[in-house]
Amino acid sequence: MKNVPELFGSLCFNEATMKARLPKETYKALKRTIDENVPLSEDVATIVANAMKDWAIELGATHYTHWFQPMTGATAEKHDSFIAPTDDGRAIMEFSGKELIKGEPDASSFPNGGLRATFEARGYTAWDPTSYAFIKEGILCIPTAFCSYGGHALDKKTPLLRSMEAVSEQAMRIVKLFGMENVKQITSTVGAEQEYFLIDKEAAYKRKDITYTGRTLFGSNPPKGQELDDHYFGVLKGRVAAYMKEVNEELWKLGILAKTQHNEVAPAQHELAPIFVTTNLATDQNQLTMEILKKVALKHGMVCLLHEKPFEGVNGSGKHNNWSLSTDTGVNLLNPGKTPSENAQFLVFLCAVIAAADEYQALFRISAASAGNDHRLGAAEAPPAVMSMFLGEDLDAVLSAIENDRPYKDKEGAKMDTGATVIPDLPKDNTDRNRTSPFAFTGNKFEFRMVGSNQSIADANIVINTTVAKELDDFATYLEGQDNLVEAVHEIVKKTMRMHRRIIFNGNGYDDAWLKEAERRELLNLPTTVDAVEHLLDDENIELYEKYGVYTREELEANYDIYMENYAKIIHIEASSMIKMSQKEIIPMAIEYAKELCDAGNAKRASGIEMSTFAEDDLAKKISKQTERLYKATEALELAVLEAETITESDKAARFYCDKVLPVMEKLRKPADTIEFASPRYKWPYPTYGDLLLSVKE
Ligand code: ADP
Ligand code: MG
Repeated sequence: MKNVPELFGSLCFNEATMKARLPKETYKALKRTIDENVPLSEDVATIVANAMKDWAIELGATHYTHWFQPMTGATAEKHDSFIAPTDDGRAIMEFSGKELIKGEPDASSFPNGGLRATFEARGYTAWDPTSYAFIKEGILCIPTAFCSYGGHALDKKTPLLRSMEAVSEQAMRIVKLFGMENVKQITSTVGAEQEYFLIDKEAAYKRKDITYTGRTLFGSNPPKGQELDDHYFGVLKGRVAAYMKEVNEELWKLGILAKTQHNEVAPAQHELAPIFVTTNLATDQNQLTMEILKKVALKHGMVCLLHEKPFEGVNGSGKHNNWSLSTDTGVNLLNPGKTPSENAQFLVFLCAVIAAADEYQALFRISAASAGNDHRLGAAEAPPAVMSMFLGEDLDAVLSAIENDRPYKDKEGAKMDTGATVIPDLPKDNTDRNRTSPFAFTGNKFEFRMVGSNQSIADANIVINTTVAKELDDFATYLEGQDNLVEAVHEIVKKTMRMHRRIIFNGNGYDDAWLKEAERRELLNLPTTVDAVEHLLDDENIELYEKYGVYTREELEANYDIYMENYAKIIHIEASSMIKMSQKEIIPMAIEYAKELCDAGNAKRASGIEMSTFAEDDLAKKISKQTERLYKATEALELAVLEAETITESDKAARFYCDKVLPVMEKLRKPADTIEFASPRYKWPYPTYGDLLLSVKE
């Protein structure tokens, strides 16, 4: 292996490569495009395309693709080769500026929520020069946005870029007020920690549910659960360590700063964290990270499960979306800073996030809405489906002191004059001690923990950026008219605390008492994806997104449809898999086992053994009773699915799957799990939870 600095970014057309390979003038023009959003001319694009092609070919690439993220949250690519014919029958490798800037995939089968009428069945992709091109399996991948000819966003990157612009513009107004004149641009930064499970491939493939749906639809709890807690931060098993090493190398080659890795709470669960970068890059990189985690696992004889809740009763997997705002001069705007002025500016940004989280609770919840994540939110060691935020006692005390015009006293009794706010050194959260909060302030950034492990982080960041932009806009408009900045900031703190204090919760979010308290505070509790997404088209949300140019009403309507459609599709696949597994394997096994038991009991009786009761009879009865239940529930599920299939409107179908299909699935699972529990190991047709969770042994 090459050394890490040599490896790092070797498959990525990053700034160093651009600088080395582009003529000075071209590099400068491209930099202006990247840093200041100046449009790229076709002449410049042609030179860049050529350099990119030569670089890619040297590294073995033969094809290129416009790599994009359709609204489903996956990634998509269509490969074109560089090859072009010459007049004399030979072939040359070509890649034009036009091809770099714009592509036209025949993408009529990507979900568009009705945005593309048939007469404009094709969309086009446009290069996002702020995210580096990279090489993946011999293909030059060009990160792109995907739009319809009508200009509607058909992907997640377009609204994400728009939201970054919105928050940058409003944040600029604030920093100007505080005298940061040399700041040219503000970007939102993100570091997405990724959780996942590793299961031995052979064991995983024996489970049809894992194969078809990514999660177990059956399974009674494992004998060795996570209660032993010896896995968390424990020593890595050899296979896992070798896997992580290769994952890191692959990520480093793509210029992804994979930094930390460790075992997570549940057996077989792990986490990977990168160093933060700008939001759109972080989003692209997280998509790539998920792809690489899965691909490398297969090479190592394992399956990487990214599902949010692969095992019932065991910790689920999420993504911790660490978010902050940074100036191009390197100042983190959520860092309290050392001087009173920095402190006051910090308070404005802090209040904007508080107000945003409270005012747009539904949007935050929707950004983490998926059929898979519904099983995780509110269950075993995951934040509840109620939005709240954690500030920590120290910061809370600072805000309360300002709110009540009281001097702030820290723990040592030192006073703080609220006239010139000085914020004490806040402890950075290194301990995960507040893992229970959906949205936690961790010293110099916010960590949004609702996002599911399998989801794109684009949605979460679109919501954070846009809602914070809106609050900053309001604050800036107020502050711009005030003479005494510090006093005005205190007014903002007071008003924010008066109106939005209810969203702040520093206690244990896993506690049932919190749900009652949240209800008392009238916070939204949206337990399912359907409950959440039904709020997407609320007036205030459409107004917000249109005002900041992030989504048009039509785009939001399309997103609404796609959310609902996806949800219905997933439950449909799960229900169908359950029916198949029950009919083809579990019921036949149970019938056969009951017969064996009856035969055994009869054989004993025939040979004259006399006993008051026979274990065989008892067991046969128990199995038969559960088989009957299982059979009926399977029939009921079949009927429910048939009815669901007749519903054509996406939201009505989703509602039906949620209310009428899911409960029957749960009803079906219970007898099956009881049968598993009561059956001998050699009879049960699948590896058990114990087998799966401990399948990677050394
Ligand atoms: P811990 O959560 O253990 O305290 P860190 O805070 O260093 O560890 O990092 C957690 C994640 O947050 C990492 O992915 C890191 O890159 C990211 N992060 C750190 N600072 C920022 C920031 N200013 N903006 C966005 N993400 C950040
Ligand atoms: Mg963390």
